[in-house]
Amino acid sequence: MIVSHINPRMLKTTALLSLSILAADPAVATTTTTATTSNTSSSMLKTVKKVLPRPRAHWVGDGFNVYPVFANNAFSEAISPFLMFDYGAPKAFPPTRKQLGVGQHPHRGFETITVAFQGEVEHADSVGNRGVIGPGDVQWMTAGRGIVHEEFHSKRMAKEGGTLEMCQLWLNLPAKDKMVAPRYQPILDAEIPVSPLYAAGGSQGAAGAGGGDGAAAGGGGGGGGGTCAARELSEGGVRVIAGSFQGVAGAARTHSQVDLWDVAIAHADGVACEFDTVEGNNVVIFVRRGRVEVQGKKLGPQDVAILNLAGSKVLMTALEADSRVLVMAGEPLGEPIAAQGPFVMNTQTELRQAMMDYQSGNFGT
Ligand code: MN
Repeated sequence: MIVSHINPRMLKTTALLSLSILAADPAVATTTTTATTSNTSSSMLKTVKKVLPRPRAHWVGDGFNVYPVFANNAFSEAISPFLMFDYGAPKAFPPTRKQLGVGQHPHRGFETITVAFQGEVEHADSVGNRGVIGPGDVQWMTAGRGIVHEEFHSKRMAKEGGTLEMCQLWLNLPAKDKMVAPRYQPILDAEIPVSPLYAAGGSQGAAGAGGGDGAAAGGGGGGGGGTCAARELSEGGVRVIAGSFQGVAGAARTHSQVDLWDVAIAHADGVACEFDTVEGNNVVIFVRRGRVEVQGKKLGPQDVAILNLAGSKVLMTALEADSRVLVMAGEPLGEPIAAQGPFVMNTQTELRQAMMDYQSGNFGT
């Protein structure tokens, strides 16, 4: 079952009028106050809750040397709906006889999203999906009720060697969707719509995303190709992997409201770029390259900022040219998290069931 949720941005006007965005405590968000929407922009700004210390890298299998950048916030409500995030900084691998990576292992109850920035990652799973992703491509795998997969460097990388830079994000599924059929969305770079950046308080980017028509706001909608051709990021822009940005709908189909933006800011010219997230979302900012300032906090390579729930607007200024940042935003699921190894369920009973089902070959796939 695929849920095509309604984009909450379409409800923004209502939220503004109820002033829920001004309430630090959601419990008082029902206060009815008559207000104009002018002079409220500073109140809509999200604030930085914490900047995480950089963790040590560790190996996943023999192919992925990654920083578990959510550290001990992983698998907690503090970053829901996100669970875990591994980042593999650029690393040169010599040619090898065997493909490096991780052999067959199971997952249930969540999604793995792998992005290749440099080099190639190869995937094969028990549902019969196979694929290689290269720079800019994304594998969005929904484990659902159960999948067994393997993740390796591509055959070409094994043969020729090369530099690998990648990340893998674990995204939780809502309880009602944990047992959906597994699904694999290979999303090529060319299929990911790109939006221009917007300066705070006004449009900075080129034409394309204006107009205010709601037609493009159906985030999570069908798998048909977007009409927005991908453009070079050399002048900066936002690759909308999931969700929507400035009316540009993302490429991936999702089970809950999630934005995943791969951001490039070309110039350190002091211009604050504006990122409008859905109110009340958990927003996590990861700096992949360069340096940026977010709400007064300076962030460098591999820094992670977790923002407070209140507010919606994020301002980001590049402190170095060609800064690259991943913005992850999503509606907190507010459901118990029971995680063990490759399984993420809601209860210990469900975890035990997952292990028994896997061991008995009863994943249904
Ligand atoms: Mn895996």
